Amino acid sequence: MERVYIGLGSNLAEPLQQLRAALDAIAQLPQSRLQAQSSFYISDPLGPAVQPRYVNAVAALDTELEPWQLLDALQRIEQEQGRVRKAERWGPRTLDLDILLFGERLLDDERLTVPHYHMHARPFVLYPLAELAADLQLPDGRSLAALLQACPFSGLERLPQ
Ligand code: ATP
Ligand code: MG
Ligand code: MG
Repeated sequence: MERVYIGLGSNLAEPLQQLRAALDAIAQLPQSRLQAQSSFYISDPLGPAVQPRYVNAVAALDTELEPWQLLDALQRIEQEQGRVRKAERWGPRTLDLDILLFGERLLDDERLTVPHYHMHARPFVLYPLAELAADLQLPDGRSLAALLQACPFSGLERLPQ
């Protein structure tokens, strides 16, 4: 088993329900066990500013799937929940499921970059991740604590459980 962290985001079509449905679907993945989920957070959008705010969370999954199998499965869940891929990057979407970390692996091919290339700069990733694993060390040696220090809790609001 390897410990994976998945970042979830939605800003269309009842985002809270999108995230709950996605967590249910992740909990059903084969050869895997959903171990924990963070609180939900409201965040300001990246990219085009004229779009609704997001709901974000992070999940911890233990899995025997290979990274590419997990990516396939997560993209299937995105599609089942109505994700439409548009040319414009970072536009509004019903569901985004990103692999943040996959065990100790460092991956970089045309489909998968792990650790997620931009997680260090995203408060809506780092703060929920810290709820699950405050002492986390990234495989490239960075500590989550150091990333958090460089990333203010701004544009973010934690929803009550
Ligand atoms: P960002 O990657 O900046 O968060 P995004 O999540 O909106 O943007 P997507 O449209 O969801 O981007 O994904 C674009 C491509 O990113 C996917 O087709 C996938 O192959 C690739 N990708 C690379 N690394 C990862 C990763 N760690 N997790 C998920 N997808 C990844
Ligand atoms: Mg993303
Ligand atoms: Mg994505």
